[in-house]
Amino acid sequence: MLKSKNPYPVIFAVVLLAALSGGASGQQSTTPPSPRDDGTLAGLTAIAGQGMMQSEAYTNLEYLSDSIGPRLTGSPGAKEAVRWGLDRMKAIGVENVHAEPYEMWSGWTRGPATAAILSPARHSLTIASMGWVGSTPEGGVTADVIPVNLYQIDREMQDNASKWAGKILVMVAKGEAPKDRMESFVKFGKFLDAAYAAHAVAVIGGQGGELAAGMNITHTGILGLAAYYRIPVVSMTREDQEQLERFIDQDKTVRVRINVQNQVTDGPVECANVVGEIRGTQFPEQIVVVGAHLDSWDLAEGSTDNGVGAVCVLEAARAIIASGYKPRRTIRFVLYTGEEQGLLGSLAYCKRHKAEMPNHVAALTLDNGQGPVVDLELGGREDLIPAVEQFTKAIKAFGDITVNDAAVFDTDSGPFILQGLPGINMGQNSPDYKYTHHSPVDTFDKVKPDLLERDATVMALTAYWIADRPERLAIPWPPERTARMLTRQKKDKMLKDFGLWPFGNQGEP
Ligand SMILES: [Zn+2]
Repeated sequence: MLKSKNPYPVIFAVVLLAALSGGASGQQSTTPPSPRDDGTLAGLTAIAGQGMMQSEAYTNLEYLSDSIGPRLTGSPGAKEAVRWGLDRMKAIGVENVHAEPYEMWSGWTRGPATAAILSPARHSLTIASMGWVGSTPEGGVTADVIPVNLYQIDREMQDNASKWAGKILVMVAKGEAPKDRMESFVKFGKFLDAAYAAHAVAVIGGQGGELAAGMNITHTGILGLAAYYRIPVVSMTREDQEQLERFIDQDKTVRVRINVQNQVTDGPVECANVVGEIRGTQFPEQIVVVGAHLDSWDLAEGSTDNGVGAVCVLEAARAIIASGYKPRRTIRFVLYTGEEQGLLGSLAYCKRHKAEMPNHVAALTLDNGQGPVVDLELGGREDLIPAVEQFTKAIKAFGDITVNDAAVFDTDSGPFILQGLPGINMGQNSPDYKYTHHSPVDTFDKVKPDLLERDATVMALTAYWIADRPERLAIPWPPERTARMLTRQKKDKMLKDFGLWPFGNQGEP
C-alpha cells in the first residue's frame, strides 16, 4: 500500500506563488526547502528505521565476500556476481531487473608471480602482478635491477632507455614529487611502452609506479584506461622494495630472478551491469541513479573495494521498498562492472542511456572503502550545495556530513559528471583503505557492520530525498558550462590524456 503524503500541492502552490511574486518585499526567498518543509520527512524517517534496524547489508557482504569472492571483470567470479546481483534485486522487489551487457577490450587472468634476490644477499620477494600486463618467459628470467626515477620519468625515458635492455627496472621516488598524480599515472603508461620497446624484462612499480603502502602488502591495479601493457609489471611490498633500493643506493649490483605468468584474451569479452528500478509515482521519466561497482580485484575478496558499495546499493533499494514509501521520481539501481579497468560499466551505462540523459537528475556513487560517509561531492555542481546542505542538516544523526562540489573521476561518478549531471561521490573516512585497496587483505573482517549499515542508510536517504523532493534537484548542464567547470577544477588535462574529454575546445579560458 502506498502511504499518502501531506496536502502538498497546496503548500507547493503557496511557495511557488511567493517565489514568483518575489514575496511581499520582492525579495527572492533563496533558502531551499529542507526535508521538514518539502514533505519528504515521513518517508525518510521510515527508511532510516528500516536501514538501521533491519539491514541485510552485512549478510549480503558476507555472502559476496566468502561465497562469491574475487570478481575480476570478465572472470567467472564477476559473472557469478552479476547473476547474484540480479537475484538479490528481484528478491528485494526491485522492478525491471535486467543485465545490460557491454564489451571490454580484452579479458585477463592472473597466473603465478614469484621473485627473489639472488645477490648481493638471497632474499625472497613478495610481489603481485599488476592487471592487464604481460608475462616473463616461461619459468622466469634472471636479470640485474636498475632504478628509474618516477619523479624524473621524462628525462629517464630520454636519457636512459638505451640502458634498459635485459634489465629489471625498479621505480624509485627521488627529489620533488610531481603535483598532478593523474598526470604521472598517465606518464607511467607511456614509460611502460618505452620500457617494453627498450627490451627491459620487467618493471617493479604499482599503480602510477607508486610504492606500496607498507605492512608487507602488495596492491594490484590497472595501469591505464582500457590499456594492456606487454611488459610484466609487479607491485612489490614496501618492505622488500626498500630493501632492494638500499642495496642499489650502496652501489651494489642487485640480481633478481622473477617469474610472472599471466593470460590475456586476444579479443573483447562480454561483461554486464546489473540494473533495476523503483518506478516514480509522479515523474517516472525522471531518473536518479544509485550505483557502485560490483567488480573487484582478485588478490582477495574485494570486501572494501567495492563489496561495501555494492551491498549498500542493494540495501538502499531494500530499505526504500520496505519503508512502503514510493518516490515521485524513478530510482535506478546499478551494479557496475569494469570500474577497475577504467569506469567501463558506468561509461557503458551513459552511452546506452544517452537518450535518457536529459531526464536524469543525479547519480550517487559509493566507493571509498569501509569508513563512514563524511561528505557529498557534487561533481562540480556548486549550484546545488545550498539545497543539499538542507538535507545533510536534516540527517545530522548520521554524522556531520559536509557538501562540496568536488568532481571525482576515481570512480563511477565520473561519466555522469561528463553528462553535466551531479555525479555525486559519497566521500568516506577510511583510514585503513590504503592497506585493503586492491590488496591481499581486502577481506570481510575489515568491514564493521555498524558503519556499513549506517553508510547504506545514508545512501538510501540521499537517493530517496533527491527522488521525492517536490522540486527537481538538477537538470544536466550544457556542455560548455561543464567544460568550464572541469577546466576550473583542473580535470581537463587528465580527461584529455585519458581520451575522455568530449568537449573539444569548449571550456578553454
Ligand atoms: Zn573501487
